[in-house]
Amino acid sequence: MAAVGGKGLPLASRLYKSRTLGLTLGFVCVAFAMYPLDPHPWVWALMLVNAFVWPHLAFLLSRRAEHALGSERRNLLIDSFCGGFWVGAMHFNPLPAVTSLSMMTMNNVAIGGARFMLAGWAAQSLGIGTALLLFTPAFIGVTTQAQLYACLPLLMLYPMALGWICYRQAATLARHKRELLALSRTDSLSGLLNHGAWKDQLEIEFQRCRRNQTGGAIALIDIDHFKTINDTYGHVTGDIVLRQLSKVLRQNLRATDLAGRYGGDEFCVILPGMPLNLATEVMDALRDRFNALAYAQDPTLRASLSIGLAPYQSTHADSISWLSDADLALYEAKSSGRNRVSSVQVSWLRSL
Ligand code: GH3
Ligand code: MG
Repeated sequence: MAAVGGKGLPLASRLYKSRTLGLTLGFVCVAFAMYPLDPHPWVWALMLVNAFVWPHLAFLLSRRAEHALGSERRNLLIDSFCGGFWVGAMHFNPLPAVTSLSMMTMNNVAIGGARFMLAGWAAQSLGIGTALLLFTPAFIGVTTQAQLYACLPLLMLYPMALGWICYRQAATLARHKRELLALSRTDSLSGLLNHGAWKDQLEIEFQRCRRNQTGGAIALIDIDHFKTINDTYGHVTGDIVLRQLSKVLRQNLRATDLAGRYGGDEFCVILPGMPLNLATEVMDALRDRFNALAYAQDPTLRASLSIGLAPYQSTHADSISWLSDADLALYEAKSSGRNRVSSVQVSWLRSL
């Protein structure tokens, strides 16, 4: 069975507050316009029901509805119909009429855009037509001073409340957008940059190095015999080892360095402005710390790292050729015995 209320329930709660406020203030506005017309008691009763019962009934209907969004759209059209009805009932008294109609139009356009605004106008016209059938058609061309003052609370407070609601919604949306963007750039297991986000940073760093002719290095880090670790200790332990490596990276790099998970058991680091000899020292220290941490967790678990380092060179055609150098250096570290840092400057290999 579909969840009662569904995804429109937050909208229904927001509209409940704005409808309660709007119809209370609207009651003052309409009552002052109706009073000189000496309406029948049932008209007063209808006015009271519309202002003070309908907001609660509308919310109850939306809460019970299977599709709260659809239910609220219907409620808003009922609001527009009633607004049109009171405009006809008060014989088009200019200020209360324009105030009621424009507040409802503002509401409709804020909720459903231009199409819903048109639907609202149709409902308002229907309301006016109904009033013209029930009451003797007439036109009052002048708004008294008392009626003008009675409209002021609605004119001042309701747009303020609606503006506040829209502002809060926009702020929430902006926050969600920021959170989603951060999530789309983060590797869920390690909390580091994911493959795509790190590659974007690599491109930025490459362009910066080329522009400023400043040095920098990148490192590709791969856990040795990780498959064996998975097979021997299980994938849960494998995941813990991956998290440990990301922790070591976070704790031992500068704030300006950019670490990411390239994929599987392979990690990647950008070390902006760092010369190769210093980068080698930093990576060696990191390798030692990872070994020690794995040993402290389980002395039988011999987890080590192979690291390929590549400094930025002006001969690099693009960021991919820089990355290929690091890849070749990693291959060198693996093939020469693992558990080491290799920084062979291999650009020339490609020209062979
Ligand atoms: P080498 O020393 O040559 O790197 O050997 P290796 O066993 O580490 O080989 P390789 O790097 O190719 O192995 C990567 C393994 O990482 C294979 C895959 O099952 C495992 N793996 C990839 N992603 C995850 C993950 O998210 N969690 C766990 N536990 N294992 C993963
Ligand atoms: Mg590996």
